[in-house]
Parts: sequence; C-alpha cells; structure tokens
Amino acid sequence: MSKVAVITGGGSGLGQSCAIRLAEEGVNIAVVDVSDEGGNQTVEAVKELGQDAIFIKADVSKAEDVKRYVDETIEYFGTIDYFFNNAGISGSGAYFLETDIKEIEQIVGINLLGALYGIRYVAEVMLKNGGGSIVNTASSAGVIGQDTVVTYSATKHGIVGLTKSLVAEYAKDGLRVNAIAPGPTETPMVKSYFEANPKMKESAESGIPQKRLGTPEEVAELVTFLLTSKAEYINGEVIRIDGGFTNTK
Ligand code: NAD
Repeated sequence: MSKVAVITGGGSGLGQSCAIRLAEEGVNIAVVDVSDEGGNQTVEAVKELGQDAIFIKADVSKAEDVKRYVDETIEYFGTIDYFFNNAGISGSGAYFLETDIKEIEQIVGINLLGALYGIRYVAEVMLKNGGGSIVNTASSAGVIGQDTVVTYSATKHGIVGLTKSLVAEYAKDGLRVNAIAPGPTETPMVKSYFEANPKMKESAESGIPQKRLGTPEEVAELVTFLLTSKAEYINGEVIRIDGGFTNTK
C-alpha cells in the first residue's frame, strides 16, 4: 500500500519539490496551501507520476482549517504516514522596531502557530496508527541570529525547540520529528526577489562557502530521506542544508 504524506505550503517551492520527490518514491500526497493555482499544479504533477493527490485549500494559521485538512486527508486516504510541516512566510525585511504589529502576528501565526497546530492534529492520527514521521521547516535563521529577520528568526528557533521537545514526549510511541534548516534556496519566491535585486544575489552567494544558492530539489532529497524509513533512527535532529553558510558564522 502507498504511504500518505501531508505537505503544507505544497503549492510552491520546497513543498512542491518535495511532493514530486515523494511521488517518485510511490507516496500519495495531500497538498495543503492557500493558493488554488499552486495547489492544483502540484496535484497535477503528482498525478503525472502515477500517484494519487488531493488539494485542500487551508490557512495553516487557523486551527479550524488545520483540523479540517487533517480530517479531509483521513476521509480520502484513510491515514497519514508522513507530514512535511513546511508552510511559511518571510516578512518585509524591515528592522524590528519598524515592523508593524500586524506583520509580527502574521509571521508568528503562519510559521509557528501553524506548525504547532499541524503537529497537534497530525500527530494524534499518527499515534493512533502506531507512529509516523514529521519534518518541520526551520531555516538558517532558526540556528543563527541575523538582522532584518527578527520575527522570522524567532519563529524558526521555535521550530527547532518544538522539534526537540516533541521527541522527548513521543519518540517512545513511534513518532519521529526532525527539522531542516535550509539556507537561501532558489524557490520561485527567492528567485523573483533576486531577479529584481541582482546585487543582493551576488552578496548572498558570496557569503556562502559553496558560492551558490541551494536548489529545491536538494532540499526535497533531504526531506524525503528524513521522512522515510531510511532515517528510522534519526530523531529530534535539525539538519542544516546551506552550503556551509551557518557553520562558518
Ligand atoms: P514559497 O513561497 O515558494 O512557498 C510557500 C508556500 O506556502 C506557498 O505556496 C504559499 O501559498 C503557502 N502558504 C503561505 N502562507 C500559507 C498559509 N497561511 N497557509 C497555507 N499555505 C500557505 O516559499 P518556500 O521558499 O518554498 O518556503 C517554504 C518554507 O521554507 C517556509 O517555511 C520558509 O520559511 C522556509 N525556508 C525557505 C528558504 C528559501 O530560501 N526558500 C530558506 C529557509 C527556509
């Protein structure tokens, strides 16, 4: 029987690449996103690879939407084996004291509350079924401090904390929870930002020991490894995938 994965933010970037990579491994996918266009595009790509997929439109920052995406996945696929808890936004890049309260609430709501709500409902299903595997998306900004991303960095450090603490509570019951900490990765969002600001791209690349940005495919490879049984004894880890960036800070 095919395994079933739920992917939040599955309509673009890392979520979409991971859906495609997991489908290549024979996994069926529930794609969760606020974007109809992106979500449906990912469903098409998974179906082209011969796996089943559904799109569930949901805002991860709303607990009722999160409960609904879990319920709809169970209704359609009957179970959840893997959870890529990935939806996130970055913010305006303003210094913290120039940041609106609304923006702080939005980043915390999506990146941190959204991740917590997701695990709250998904892990319940997994534990009922004997276990499962979760990968949370942190960031370089979740393992080091950086300017212009204070709120984002707070949420991503939060992702690291919840990853480790969940293992302390539920590893004995068959739950694996790991996190990835990507550096700047060429997702559509980052690509269009750098196309508009080519100097920023040069400066980002020059700060990375490998002198290039990561690709979504490289991140999807790591996530697939962590989610599946190949990583059965890896638990509570935060894996950096950043060309050496944070290890040289
Ligand atoms: P992206 O913008 O390409 O994809 C994010 C997806 O999440 C989009 O499809 C968007 O519609 C969806 N989304 C946004 N808000 C949502 C909400 N409230 N509910 C449901 N879906 C929502 O971005 P990406 O680069 O693929 O980022 C994915 C994750 O990776 C984020 O958590 C981000 O912080 C993290 N990350 C990205 C990079 C990078 O350089 N791209 C680096 C480190 C960490």
